Amino acid sequence: MAYVITEPCIGTKDTSCADVCPVDCIHPAPGEENADTATMLYIDPSECIDCDACVEACPVDATMAEDDVPAQWEAFKEINRVYYEQGAEAGEKMVQEFLASRG
Ligand code: SF4
Ligand code: SF4
Repeated sequence: MAYVITEPCIGTKDTSCADVCPVDCIHPAPGEENADTATMLYIDPSECIDCDACVEACPVDATMAEDDVPAQWEAFKEINRVYYEQGAEAGEKMVQEFLASRG
């Protein structure tokens, strides 16, 4: 399992989660490539150790365990994974598609 960042991060993106993650698997953190332009932050599922620290840190409850992701945010499981497996552009594209699908 891994943790996932979901829709409430969009427009919030305060990076508190990246500050507390003990394995530095949340990106883009401040100063990193794409930090200014990213729509949201993303958790690398291959690095996450399920420590739960990001849940407490997030002011808008955007971070959660994969098993706790509600149906309307199901797409974010893949969005977080694609961001790391296929690159930032592919992840961002999926976020835009998600938003477009919401109308
Ligand atoms: S659960 Fe822990 S390891 Fe995983 S993203 Fe959150 S803070 Fe990082
Ligand atoms: S703490 Fe929450 S809102 Fe802030 S960047 Fe992390 S997931 Fe997004």
